[in-house]
Amino acid sequence: LPTVLLIGRPNVGKSALFNRLIRRREALVYNTPNDHVTRDIREGIAKLGDLRFKVLDSAGLEAEASSGSVLGRTAEMTANVLRMCNFALFLIDARDGLQPMDLDVGKWLRKHAPGIKIIMVMNKAESLDDGFGSVISAVSEARTLGFGDPIPLSAETGLGMNDLYEVLRPLLEEHMFQIVDEVADETNEDCESCVEEESKLPLQLAFVGRPNVGKSTLLNAILQEDRVLVGPEAGLTRDSVRVEFEFEGRTIYMVDTAGWLKRTKSEKGASSLSIVQSRKNLMRAHVVALVLDGQEVSKARKSMTHDEIVIARRAIEEGRGLVVIVNKMDLLEERLYDRVVQAVPKEIQMMIPQVTGIPVVFVSALEGKGRIDVMQEVIETYKKWCLRLSTARLNRWLLKVMSRHSWKDSAAQPKVKYFTQVKARPPTFVAFVSGKVRLSDTDLRFLTRSLKEDFDMGGIPVRILQRAIV
Ligand code: GDP
Repeated sequence: LPTVLLIGRPNVGKSALFNRLIRRREALVYNTPNDHVTRDIREGIAKLGDLRFKVLDSAGLEAEASSGSVLGRTAEMTANVLRMCNFALFLIDARDGLQPMDLDVGKWLRKHAPGIKIIMVMNKAESLDDGFGSVISAVSEARTLGFGDPIPLSAETGLGMNDLYEVLRPLLEEHMFQIVDEVADETNEDCESCVEEESKLPLQLAFVGRPNVGKSTLLNAILQEDRVLVGPEAGLTRDSVRVEFEFEGRTIYMVDTAGWLKRTKSEKGASSLSIVQSRKNLMRAHVVALVLDGQEVSKARKSMTHDEIVIARRAIEEGRGLVVIVNKMDLLEERLYDRVVQAVPKEIQMMIPQVTGIPVVFVSALEGKGRIDVMQEVIETYKKWCLRLSTARLNRWLLKVMSRHSWKDSAAQPKVKYFTQVKARPPTFVAFVSGKVRLSDTDLRFLTRSLKEDFDMGGIPVRILQRAIV
C-alpha cells in the first residue's frame, strides 16, 4: 500500500485527522521493538471512499522532542520516516493562520523531502464557514508556503474530506503504476475466494432520486416493515436514520437515507434533486440505485431529467456501481408499460455511454412488486464491482481482443505487451505498451468496452490506465 505521513507543528490536528482516516476513535500505537525509528509513529490503514493507504501519524515524535516540534531532537527520525513514505500531508491550522513554526516545517520539508509529493491541508476549517472571504484569505496565505493550494477541511467534523479524496485519488492511482509489477506477480490465479470474501463485506447502498419518486416507499417495501416513514408531513423522520439490514445473508448499509428523507420532506413537492448533497454521499456508497418515477418517464420525452443524468454520470465518474430503478409501474396501462420497459434501457445507454449494460429494474414499490429484483441487481452489481481477474486470463483475452480491433494499418498498432488488474472496487487495469505508439482514447474505449462485455461488467465503471515499458 502507498504510505502517507501526517506532518505539521503540534496541535494542528494530526491525530484527529489520523483517527478520522482510520475511522477509529482511539488510535493504535504501533510498536516495532527492533526499529527505534518508528517507535513513536502511529500507523493505520486509512479508508477514504474506495481508497486504501497506509497512514503514519508523526504526532508521537513531538512528545520526545525537547522543543516540542518536529524540528527538535526528533528531526532525524522524522526524516527517516519520511523517506519511507510516498506522500506527506502537511497540516496547518486554519484558525491560527500561518505561524512561524509552520514556515519552519515548510522549510524543513523542502530540504528533507525532495521527490516526495507534499499536499497542504488546512485543518479546523469548520470555523471558516462564517463567510467565503475568510477561506479565500486563509488559502492564499497558506499558498505562500509554496506547496500549492491547501485543502480546507475539518478532521473534527469531516467537512472537506471529499476534497481530500479528490486530490489523493489521482496521486494514488499514479502510484499504483509503481507497484503494479509486484501485484501482477501475485495475481496469477483468479482470486475467486477473495472476490467472494470481499463481496461479503457490508454493501453500502444509496438510493438517490428526486423527491416523491418513491424512495421511502421502496425502502419500506424492501424492509417489509414501516421503519422508514413515508408521507408529506415535515419532521416525520429523525435526523439519525441509520438503516442496516440483511438480505440473503448479506449486510446492507443504507447510505444517505437521512439526507434524502430530510430533503424530501422539507422541500415539499419540489422536484429538484440536490446534486451537491447527493454527490457528497455518492462517495460513501458502493452501489448507487437511481430511482425514477415511471409515470413521469412515460409522459416525458426523455427517460431522465437533466439532474438525473448528471447524478448517474457522476456516480460512474466517482467509481460507483449503478442500478436504475423505474418505480410506480402500477400506474401504467399495459401498452404504456411495455413501451417504457422497451425504451428506457436503450435511452439510458444513449445518455450514459460511458457504461454499458446498466441494469434497469421496473417496480411498483407501493404494491411491493420487484423489490427482490432490485436487491438482486444491486448485489450482482456489487459483485462485479469487487471482481478480480487473473493476469493469465486477462492476457489470453488480450490476444483475442487485439486481433478483433480493426487497426488502420499495422504500423499504427500499439504493442500491448501485458495487461493486468491492479485493483478491484471498482476494477482498474493497466495496459503495458511498448514501442512508440500509445493506445489512443478510441483504443482505450474499445478495450474498456470489450472488457466489460467479455467479463460481464455491466453497470460498473471500469478504468484502464496505460504505462509505457522501455
Ligand atoms: P421519496 O420522496 O422518493 O421518498 O418518495 P415517497 O416514498 O415518499 O413516495 C412519494 C409518493 O409516491 C407517496 O405518496 C407514495 O405513496 C407514492 N408512491 C411511491 N411508490 C409508488 C408506486 O410504486 N406506485 C404508486 N402508485 N405510488 C407510489
